[in-house]
Amino acid sequence: TYVVTDNCIACKYTDCVEVCPVDCFYEGENTLVIHPDECIDCGVCEPECPADAIRPDTEPGMEDWVEFNRQYAQIW
Ligand code: SF4
Repeated sequence: TYVVTDNCIACKYTDCVEVCPVDCFYEGENTLVIHPDECIDCGVCEPECPADAIRPDTEPGMEDWVEFNRQYAQIW
């Protein structure tokens, strides 16, 4: 699963949304988020993000962002 992190805050680009094959981006309060159960881990969005905000959840220190993405993806 990939996660959206703090560089996304107030970012107005939606390049990631356009390339995601399963439409698993959702709108959070001031970021986009990735629905962790819908993401198929294809990695296509990561290089498309102009703010470099999308990271694999396997990177160290991602635990809080995993929780953040899960929380906001399920509100809407
Ligand atoms: Fe969508 Fe693929 Fe990015 Fe997951 S890794 S959010 S499936 S584009």
